[in-house]
Amino acid sequence: MEDCIFCKIIDGKIPAAKIYEDNKVFSFLDIMPANKGHCLVVPRRHSVTLIEMSEDDLVATVKAAKKIASALSLSFGNGSFNIVMNNGKEAGQLVNHAHIHIIPRFQKDRLRIKWSHVKYDDNEIKEYAEKIRKFI
Ligand code: 5GP
Ligand code: ZN
Repeated sequence: MEDCIFCKIIDGKIPAAKIYEDNKVFSFLDIMPANKGHCLVVPRRHSVTLIEMSEDDLVATVKAAKKIASALSLSFGNGSFNIVMNNGKEAGQLVNHAHIHIIPRFQKDRLRIKWSHVKYDDNEIKEYAEKIRKFI
């Protein structure tokens, strides 16, 4: 993809602090980290969201995320990290090349990933489950 910043990083046209690469994925440090050591892992093949990714790319990306989370924990982390994937504009996806964030967590860091809750009306939870199940 011509205008994709992550494709340019994968192709070496834009510099990045590389963490890991193999024939399916590429991983580098996020330039504006939520915490220092915040990594991104992306499939080499351009896809916009998780839904577009091939199963092969998805498996490779998730496996790499585990490898990177482990390296983060062993290097300067403490075994605590968040895995985040923003899919789509409303979910806060800013770069339209699918990517997984691996964010190391520290005692008293300032990152907040907890969300507020909404409530289902009576029976609504069953209706939601039914609506979704139809498309599985
Ligand atoms: P999103 O909101 O799309 O899930 O996250 C995109 C992430 O990519 C952001 O956290 C942002 O800091 C990071 N990012 C955007 N442009 C660049 C770049 O040129 N280099 C690196 N290393 N990270 C970038
Ligand atoms: Zn791309």
